[in-house]
Amino acid sequence: MNKFKSMMIGAAVLLSLQAVAQKPKVPAKGIGQKYGCTSIMQAPKINSFDTSAGSRGLVDPYYLWDNGSTLKVKFLAGSPAMQERVKSFAKEWEQHANLKFDFVESGETDIRVNLDNKGGHNSMIGQVASGIAQEVKTMNFDTTDFASADAMHRTVLHEFGHAIGLLHEHYSPLAGIPWNKDLVYKELAQSQGWDKMTVDVNLFQEYALTYTHGTSYDKTSIMHYPVLARWTTTGYAVPWNNQLSAGDKMLVTALYPKGGVRATEVPRFVVTNYTKMNVVTSAEKQGLLLYPSFNIKTAGADGQVYFTVFFYDEAGNPIMDNNEKYNISNVVATYKSFKLVAGKTLSANKNLPTDFELFIPFSELPVDAGAKIKAVFKAILVDGKELKMLYSSTPVNFSVIR
Ligand SMILES: [Zn+2]
Repeated sequence: MNKFKSMMIGAAVLLSLQAVAQKPKVPAKGIGQKYGCTSIMQAPKINSFDTSAGSRGLVDPYYLWDNGSTLKVKFLAGSPAMQERVKSFAKEWEQHANLKFDFVESGETDIRVNLDNKGGHNSMIGQVASGIAQEVKTMNFDTTDFASADAMHRTVLHEFGHAIGLLHEHYSPLAGIPWNKDLVYKELAQSQGWDKMTVDVNLFQEYALTYTHGTSYDKTSIMHYPVLARWTTTGYAVPWNNQLSAGDKMLVTALYPKGGVRATEVPRFVVTNYTKMNVVTSAEKQGLLLYPSFNIKTAGADGQVYFTVFFYDEAGNPIMDNNEKYNISNVVATYKSFKLVAGKTLSANKNLPTDFELFIPFSELPVDAGAKIKAVFKAILVDGKELKMLYSSTPVNFSVIR
């Protein structure tokens, strides 16, 4: 039970879980200074059809906030004048979505905004921000781009759009943009320093239809990047969009209805208050006992969660299983899986230090005695073929003592 190989879940889920374990890639230098934003989005895996008509736009339903939430927002830097302008632009979303941004100067916050002269523009997607440590930013603005009022306005609306769960509109499977990919790679390498992977992630991803929330493609969305005519084979172009489009307004009205409830729900689970993971060597059990300490809050619909621990070598590469009878690309990990009901808050290793235990026998850890390795706790929501990362801890370093 300690290997994903032996998990009684589908092969697609297995492959995706292995992808989750991979070492994160380092983004190219200088990305996002002038073009687009570099918010990280997981590409969903499934394709199913929902063709109901309605508003437009692309959304990650797993990371939406509860309807009617008041989100506490704090600035980590920036001049008071600049902060005031960000506030006023962000609040345009409140006119359409049943959400409030409460700008505060202290205490626990949901969104933390850094105004800097570097770092590009980016934001966590919706409630992904809840898994980020309180001292760490969840949104960044590069104010060197804010010389023009239009640029600042559209950028603030765009990043706060991500913060309430919206995705890049050009990822819509209905967009059908006839990219001239070779030219885009070449020009964005020159102007932004983006490598091929960064361009693929930021421009060429295509999401499953479910993520359109039953909407059509909207080239006027604030969540669409500009597209130069020469970047497409047909001369198709999208200008900088500086305002919320009619489609943007309709979408957030449907997602966060005032005086109503969201029409469709998925499991929306959030891991909070992760503090540490104790790693205990057990001579008696001939293995490692792992005690991650966290809370999980469930909302939306019931769902399946895998609480996992992945193992990495000193360099941060995943430790693979070396046992031929399993599989060559087998990432070593241990897990426990639960079906959780919506509307609960559960805690692990909070009330008692050892009320939630994960275990891996030494025999399943193909490393030498005394090896320095890292363990990373990850919580993963599995909904059908969808996998959503709920939380990934900082690595816990330890030596294997048998
Ligand atoms: Zn963006």
